[in-house]
Amino acid sequence: MNKFDYMEKHGYEQMVYFFDKTTGLKGITCIHNTTLGPALGGTRLWNYDSEEDAALDCLRLARGMTYKAAAAGLNLGGGKTVLIGDANKVKSEAYFRALGRYVQSLNGRYITAEDVNTSTKDMDYVHMETHHVVGLEGKSGNPSPMTALGVFHGIRASLKKVFGNDDISRYSFAVQGTGQTGYFLIKYLLEANAKKIYFTEINQKHIDRMKHEHPEVEFVKPDQIFALEVDVFSPCALGAVLNDDSIPQIKAKIVAGSANNVLQDEEKHGVMLKDKGILYAPDFVINAGGLINVYHELLSYNKDRAVRDIEKIFDRLLEIFEIAENEDISTYAAARVYAKKRIETINNLHSNYIPR
Ligand code: NAD
Repeated sequence: MNKFDYMEKHGYEQMVYFFDKTTGLKGITCIHNTTLGPALGGTRLWNYDSEEDAALDCLRLARGMTYKAAAAGLNLGGGKTVLIGDANKVKSEAYFRALGRYVQSLNGRYITAEDVNTSTKDMDYVHMETHHVVGLEGKSGNPSPMTALGVFHGIRASLKKVFGNDDISRYSFAVQGTGQTGYFLIKYLLEANAKKIYFTEINQKHIDRMKHEHPEVEFVKPDQIFALEVDVFSPCALGAVLNDDSIPQIKAKIVAGSANNVLQDEEKHGVMLKDKGILYAPDFVINAGGLINVYHELLSYNKDRAVRDIEKIFDRLLEIFEIAENEDISTYAAARVYAKKRIETINNLHSNYIPR
């Protein structure tokens, strides 16, 4: 891959490689677009097969963050850091402080946070060297309940669009995955008196937890979840679960969950769902609750304000569904249109000179 060609094609601003000789820290930070504000994106630690794989992952994830933040109405751009290494071997105070120094060197153009294989504790070390880090212990807290809350409101919007009524007590749900987000989503659905909830899991501990805490929620085997006669299928586990095999099985009228990159092929499977008459709530819009919550750390954290912002996912999705309908495109494509339009509009707004 020629990096400059790739950056030019997709509009990236900056790609930084760094290596710390003391700790062996090896990583890449990508900044995709900062039209709306500083690029924010977590730090992912992964034992990549090659430097090329790491670079591509970083570029792809940074771009995803641009659209996610833009669609969430946040004044943030998109960025990401990937660290190349074995999470069981490389982690230490010095390792993450070294990372903090590189984050600081970008002088606020990039703000980091936790991601796969990095934790709030690691970010506390990063924070010793830079203020450009969010998701710290004692601040906005665990993002997952907030992500689930956003998904809950996104499900309400989807119900309103399809059935003209968002009263959860009238509908049935199939939730795939009851980890950090699926677990809380089920709690919110139960609080709203959902008519019936099925769940599937592969982690026995999580199955037992659900059966113990909520015996009324019915377990089904992982391969049975797609074909259930329910109103909403909610993927809260892995990516790429909407594909050539699963889509023909789905009987639900709505697909709305927390999982990232849920369409195996964004274009093809987005259109396939549309053609089958299934309303798909685009992943990067419906699962932005955690990002919205952490963004509030930058504004001096206030939980009520964060929750109010997360509730706006309801109206935002309705707007996106309308774009999809009017332009006869998939809801995923409509979400991209929506995000790009906001970036373009704010960019144009800033084109006249205002003395400071
Ligand atoms: P998690 O790892 O806590 O939970 C996922 C659960 O899915 C696990 O319990 C796992 O056992 C289960 N699972 C995996 N494969 C399965 C299968 N084939 N069938 C049934 N269950 C299966 O993760 P999470 O934090 O809940 O995140 C879930 C998804 O949401 C991920 O795609 C993540 O990227 C996305 N997401 C999470 C957040 C957040 O705040 N946690 C924010 C945005 C997006």
